Amino acid sequence: MEEIKIQRTDHPAAKPDAHGLGFGKVFSDHMFLLNYDKGQGWHDPRVVPYGPFTLAPSAMVFHYAQEVFEGLKAYRTADGTVQLFRPIDNARRLKDSCERLCIPPIPEEDFVEAVKTLVKVDIDWVPDVPGTSLYIRPFIIATDASLGVHASHSYIFCIITGPVGAYYAAGINPVKIYVESDDVRAVKGGTGYTKCGGNYAASIRAGERAEEQGYAQVLWLDGVHRKYIEEVGSMNVMFKIDGKIVTPMLTGSVLPGITRRSCIELLKSWGYEVEERLITAQELFDAAKAGKLDEAWGTGTAAVVSPIGEMGWEDQHVVVNGGQIGPVTQKLYDTLTGIQWGTQPDPYGWVVKL
Ligand SMILES: *Cc1c(COP(=O)(O)O)cnc(C)c1O
Repeated sequence: MEEIKIQRTDHPAAKPDAHGLGFGKVFSDHMFLLNYDKGQGWHDPRVVPYGPFTLAPSAMVFHYAQEVFEGLKAYRTADGTVQLFRPIDNARRLKDSCERLCIPPIPEEDFVEAVKTLVKVDIDWVPDVPGTSLYIRPFIIATDASLGVHASHSYIFCIITGPVGAYYAAGINPVKIYVESDDVRAVKGGTGYTKCGGNYAASIRAGERAEEQGYAQVLWLDGVHRKYIEEVGSMNVMFKIDGKIVTPMLTGSVLPGITRRSCIELLKSWGYEVEERLITAQELFDAAKAGKLDEAWGTGTAAVVSPIGEMGWEDQHVVVNGGQIGPVTQKLYDTLTGIQWGTQPDPYGWVVKL
């Protein structure tokens, strides 16, 4: 990548109170941009003031959703330094997503350099209140002004950031999830293993329905058999059944989460048996009714680890661990957040200082 040009804003925005931060509503002063044009490749890396795009109404992304994204965070440690968590894994996953969506890939080291450069420019936006971080949202959109269905010849890679508080306003409290029997998020052969906007568009209806019934998230079943557990909302999902950790295997319709991988590595290092396999909703509810579902939790960058306290599935309803956060869930949360915020050692080399 060429040298990244930096153009600072003349109108820095007032920073929000770091105690009342929500998720994804406030954005930092700058953004990173990189353009792609066929024949030229990726070019003109730059940091510019945060602001709107001008795109043709016929731009392909608006019609055919040729788009991919990532999500990661920058954390401020007690000594004031700022660090990232496994950013190279985001870079690799973005490449995989690009490959599936026919978008030209961005070299991993360029991705990491772009993220680091942008966060350094907006370093004062990384909040220092416990539990807060700077959320980083890289994304690529297809910009050809054309309604023909084909891979675009031009793209914009953009990174925006913004300070965030805890994902759930109520803190790390067990959530209620609903097993969705009608809508599916993804199918094998589709784009389920990529981070692309289209997956989310397909998921919104079930999410709305679940919310109407008082549930926080949807537990997705596989699209073919409508039987196997895949993910929960925008998180991967794990269960402790009869002492063993069980999590859906990566079948192609499940997103390979970096938090998921980190949890599996931690759990194995603690001596737990971790099974990555197919798991039916029936097995899960049977285990719960037999008193063998010890714990259930979701994993993802935004919420880190999110305990599941109740599950509904058609006319069945079960409570997990008395609706309380369980010890394994708590230990995963404490260890991961400890490594991310630098209050615990990082024996795995996951953390990258700015
Ligand atoms: C991003 C995402 C996850 C979690 O991935 P992390 O890398 O752990 O943040 C899980 N499921 C879906 C559908 C996602 O988009």
